Amino acid sequence: MEKRIQGLKEIKRLKEEIETLECEMESVADSLTLIGSNDNDQLIIRQAESHLSKLQSQMEKLDQQMEKLQSECEIKSGMGPLVQGLERILDEHKIDQEVYYGGIFNGNACDKFLKVYPAVFASIEQLAHKVATELKMENIYNEGKLICDQFSKLFELRSIVHKLVGHAKPIRGDDLLPIQPAIDAYLSYYRQTFPGSSITVKMHLMEDHAFEDIKRYGCGLGLLGEQGFESVHHTFKEIFDRCKNVAPSKRMLCAVKRHQLVTNPELQRHVRHKKNGP
Ligand SMILES: [Zn+2]
Repeated sequence: MEKRIQGLKEIKRLKEEIETLECEMESVADSLTLIGSNDNDQLIIRQAESHLSKLQSQMEKLDQQMEKLQSECEIKSGMGPLVQGLERILDEHKIDQEVYYGGIFNGNACDKFLKVYPAVFASIEQLAHKVATELKMENIYNEGKLICDQFSKLFELRSIVHKLVGHAKPIRGDDLLPIQPAIDAYLSYYRQTFPGSSITVKMHLMEDHAFEDIKRYGCGLGLLGEQGFESVHHTFKEIFDRCKNVAPSKRMLCAVKRHQLVTNPELQRHVRHKKNGP
């Protein structure tokens, strides 16, 4: 196991080295496009070409080294000693296994996770400690503990944002004040702690657009974002199921009408009800 982890670290290092080489090759190739056609330039071109081919063969060597290591060291998904324990932990905290698809949480699972993350992290830490002790790998555990602490802090900042904006209630006046600072604190910690990681589209939306939208529409992202759609989808499906006795050709229309009534009770007043009796 220890050897495997060393191997994985070596793979990461090789990948970085390959990326640096790629950059260097690109800049050599770029510089060639600026060169003219006199004798002196020909010399520069030849030098650059031999430089490029050296870089190329260096890179091929690194590629081979990496492939060899990958076949020796990489642990197939689901085979690691922690995975099964992790699934049990998610189960215990009722983070639905069904929505744990492809290793990615959907909106509802994220919402749940942001509420219970301290307990989940505590259980994961316990599990990691147990596995590390069994495998006599305390040093790896300590390294993992540091990462765990970083993620705890990140989730703490993220859950502050979630509490402020992840709902469908009105947000006006003074309630608007803490939102952008909380978003900025979350993203600045993320950038500082994981400098090589990219900013996802959702993070960008959060950082640069969420506040404007909330101010404009006067409510949390629950009505504007994906969570809103998730919840609409859920409600609509329930209503659609309740229309099961309606003829199939009219079933969708029936469900849409009923859904309209539920989401906009004001419409109820205009509904004409059948009178009883003759
Ligand atoms: Zn944008």
